[in-house]
Amino acid sequence: MSQPIDTLIQCRWLITMDSKRRVLEHHSIAVKDGKITAIVPNSEAEDLYQANECIKLEQHIALPGLVNTHGHLAMSLLRGYADDYPLHDWLNDHIWPAEGKFVSHEFVADGARLAMAEMIRGGTTAFSDNYFFPEAVAEVCAEVGMRGSLYSPILNFPTAWGSGPEETIAKSCKLIEQYQEHALVNIGFGPHAPYTVSNEAFSEIAKQEAKYQCGIMVHLQETQKEVDDSIEQYGQRPTERLQSLGVMNERTQCVHMTAVSDEDISILQASKSHVVHCPESNLKLASGFCPTEKLRQAGVNVSLGTDGAASNNDLDMLSEMRTASMLAKAVDNNASALNAMDSLAMATIDGAKALNIDSYTGSLEVGKAADITTVELSALNALPMYDPVSYLVYTNCSHQVSDVWVSGERLLAAGLLQTIDEQALRDNAIEWQSKISAD
Ligand SMILES: [Zn+2]
Repeated sequence: MSQPIDTLIQCRWLITMDSKRRVLEHHSIAVKDGKITAIVPNSEAEDLYQANECIKLEQHIALPGLVNTHGHLAMSLLRGYADDYPLHDWLNDHIWPAEGKFVSHEFVADGARLAMAEMIRGGTTAFSDNYFFPEAVAEVCAEVGMRGSLYSPILNFPTAWGSGPEETIAKSCKLIEQYQEHALVNIGFGPHAPYTVSNEAFSEIAKQEAKYQCGIMVHLQETQKEVDDSIEQYGQRPTERLQSLGVMNERTQCVHMTAVSDEDISILQASKSHVVHCPESNLKLASGFCPTEKLRQAGVNVSLGTDGAASNNDLDMLSEMRTASMLAKAVDNNASALNAMDSLAMATIDGAKALNIDSYTGSLEVGKAADITTVELSALNALPMYDPVSYLVYTNCSHQVSDVWVSGERLLAAGLLQTIDEQALRDNAIEWQSKISAD
């Protein structure tokens, strides 16, 4: 007797990213109630299961939905607005003034929808966001069906979202409580960076985070200048300072880490904090190079993020993996550094670990959510196919992403967005462009 299920997805290649890193050929994924209930050979699948919908993707690779562990979604509306400046000039002279004029609940919701459409189209199913009005992003997550880990922005100065740390920490706690049981959205604290957040605010965040265990995202040691300024002002490296304020723990994401000393690595090891690597943003802003291979060798979990579209300028995780691998080889002067499988791990299971969502996503395994991406293999650059992981990482194949599911919900079907009106999205982005460029 065959078992009733919702969906059966039959594939040519199936990359599990389980602990054995198994890559299977001619296998199917059985999905019921949003979860993976079995992974079986295609030859047995149709006898074993009675599916409401059987999707034959026999010229495709299936892989876990990609996890983009750093971004500022609404900044998609500022893509290409200010290019070719170093980080501090880019922020102070261009981005912060533009945000001061335009950021609102509506700006954030519209920018987040644009970013989610691009991410789904590129095979991403879960993301991390750090931006004003996280409640607007949470609403769009629920509307679109994507997983979001939203780190509420806390800065020392007034922003569109609050007058300062006291108000933004209080608002964050409220949101954390509101979204505690949500199926798609997690809220955590997002103190912007050591140079924009006081000791007092960091200590309060550490105290509240210990209560909620919700995670902290902080831009950390993005440039050597940040480290030098911190030593001058506090007599400590930023990582040491955060360690002494109680901010570093196993739910902390240290984003960027381009200027890394051996003491920093010891702190990361002891605290089990995660490093979020954003290679394209670091290259574009000439921020420096994160030593991913050295960190991984030291047992530090390193995940991958695109950063916002204003400093990348896309949200394409497949091309980000390629950049990460190439950069790691150059930085380590070693062609074996960050191989294709390790790069894919950074963009899937290790990303899920960094966001503390690995118990239910990040790999294709029975019992986990059906967060699945498929890549079609008809392109000439997919021939010959000795190794599908090599193809995903090194061959620039993001335009070949065909289908995406989150919790068994199909968000992309044969290249078409299912939960976002693409024409309305285009019209809306053009409207924002006219408003912003008229300023
Ligand atoms: Zn960032």
